[in-house]
Amino acid sequence: MPGAQSGPDIPAAAAATASAVPAAAGAVQPPAAPLSTLARLSSLLARAGHALLPGACVLCGGEAGAGAQTCPGCHAQVFGAARPRCRTCANPLPGAWHGDGAAGQPGGSEICGRCLAHPPAFDATVAAVDYAMPQDQLVLQLKFGGRLALAALFGRALADATQAAPGFTRPALLCPVPLGPQRLAGRGFNQALEIARALGRRLDIAVAPRLAVRVHDTLAQSLVQPSARRANIAHAFAVPDRAQVEGRHVGIVDDVMTSGQTLDELAATFKRHGAARVTCLVFARTPPH
Ligand SMILES: [Zn+2]
Ligand SMILES: [Zn+2]
Repeated sequence: MPGAQSGPDIPAAAAATASAVPAAAGAVQPPAAPLSTLARLSSLLARAGHALLPGACVLCGGEAGAGAQTCPGCHAQVFGAARPRCRTCANPLPGAWHGDGAAGQPGGSEICGRCLAHPPAFDATVAAVDYAMPQDQLVLQLKFGGRLALAALFGRALADATQAAPGFTRPALLCPVPLGPQRLAGRGFNQALEIARALGRRLDIAVAPRLAVRVHDTLAQSLVQPSARRANIAHAFAVPDRAQVEGRHVGIVDDVMTSGQTLDELAATFKRHGAARVTCLVFARTPPH
């Protein structure tokens, strides 16, 4: 995880969280409470992190309101404007940014040339933001800093992006991109599942965490040469219960979409099991270089 260590904000944020949680647990500690209750409270506080307390903006360290992860200025900078994106893969399209959060390119093509030439297995993609500074720090803090409260922010941003996406149709159910057992054991949580839960609550769509499973652990796509990424992810997924998928519109949720090959492989797996339509819902999209 070199990325987790390189950002200057991560250790500071981790330290802030570490100091805030025991203090908060101490403040609510009744003298005679049973240990199991204390453990549960402490665990709840740790999971909620600083969402319970007015704290520092995770991006600039300025004052964030109670329950907020970012200050109003950083929030406006990151989420205040949406850019036109390809309906299929969410890569940026040329055109003006929209300050009101409305995406799309009125009067122009809404599907990029690459998707027209080589249609992927998924039918549509919605992304909330580009994977770029400064919001890449939010992703790193959720994933490697264990800041699970950020998943609620991502879910809200993604729900807003679906409202603004032209032609968006609601999936019947949401499935997070599954982690392999080793990766899940190492991290302790699947960030895609946390985002899917937040998004599902916003859109009132059921989350099916085991709609697909990872058959074997694969190397992180970021560690694999681009030319070898398709082979790395091929046959990585399985669908345990075809009846859950057949004829349905499946929404795949992930934190970041880079080459899109993981999502393409998972979408192809769902299509092989009879899915009628697949929409990818990703918090951040890596723009092409
Ligand atoms: Zn800020
Ligand atoms: Zn495209």
